[in-house]
Amino acid sequence: MNDAPRSDWTIDEVRVLFELPLMRLIRRAGRVHEQFHDVDVVQVNQLLSIKTGACPEDCGYCAQSARHDTGVKPQPLMAVDEVVRTAKRAKAQGVTRFCMGAAWRDVKDNAQFDRVLDMVRQVNDLGLEVCATLGMLTADQARRLEEAGLYAYNHNLDTSPEYYDSVITTRTYQERLDTIDNLRTTSITVCCGGIIGMGESVADRISFLHRLATLDPHPESVPINVLSRVPGTPLENAADVEIHETVRMIAAARVLMPSSMVRIAAGRHLMSFSDQALCFLAGANSFFSSERNMMLTATTPCADHASDRSMLATMGLRPRVLEPSER
Ligand code: SAM
Ligand code: SF4
Repeated sequence: MNDAPRSDWTIDEVRVLFELPLMRLIRRAGRVHEQFHDVDVVQVNQLLSIKTGACPEDCGYCAQSARHDTGVKPQPLMAVDEVVRTAKRAKAQGVTRFCMGAAWRDVKDNAQFDRVLDMVRQVNDLGLEVCATLGMLTADQARRLEEAGLYAYNHNLDTSPEYYDSVITTRTYQERLDTIDNLRTTSITVCCGGIIGMGESVADRISFLHRLATLDPHPESVPINVLSRVPGTPLENAADVEIHETVRMIAAARVLMPSSMVRIAAGRHLMSFSDQALCFLAGANSFFSSERNMMLTATTPCADHASDRSMLATMGLRPRVLEPSER
């Protein structure tokens, strides 16, 4: 069986893979993982919300939308120094990828963007992989981020094209794809994944994975979020996601996009040690950790660095260290 990266997966192939018996799927994903990655190493990421709340978009899962009454206190764009101080502390904790998120619909060419470019320059100078997630981007804005030293840009497709309108009405799937195309005019790597647990069907999960796996090239990074139910959002009462569903998504993503980093993102705080071990066996090789048990300042919970270090030590996994040649 040839597991080399390919972008011509058919929907039937994705379905057959997704519906494999779970242990068989995990074993297959494990083989792909060994072929393409050092299975003893995981990358630790940290996400900082540099501008919180009051977002004009209506994403049904999000604590930061101005359209939902979630109690999140809007915070203006942070000062550069404060962001750099946080990034330094993160680096001292073993973080090698630092992601800055802004609750914006899209990027405007204004002083705020200039400030974000400054943050990118200074975090890059610390020797971290610097990632940003700022909403929609033009090709010119992508180029400016590239010049500032941005390593990765996160822009999630979130779910299937068929289910998208049930979750978000203020932008289209095509607009998400257009931003990814704009990024591909630069050398910035793409981080693109989504969320399970928003009421989508199995067919939606298959269709979503199919859209990701037929991007050419594949996103270098694929975050798999489990919905963190936020009171006040339309999805506050969504059904629980069982661990086998998360593991199945991770394993399928690993096989479909063998050379990509597959990241366990939101929802990990609800997973036990053994749940997480299963995710790593299924091909996850990165996760988000945090300073204060929160992932997006006060919006989604997350495990902290000390407990994560102890978990990795017990599992015999090493946090990835960035070599100068990787910068
Ligand atoms: N505004 C930007 C955007 O939408 O691209 C960036 C910030 S947004 C918070 C980044 C991603 O976080 C979303 O695409 C979504 O996948 C994830 N996310 C946000 N809230 C979440 C929640 N409550 N549960 C799980 N994932 C969530
Ligand atoms: Fe705004 Fe992003 Fe939240 Fe959507 S996911 S409401 S665009 S911050």
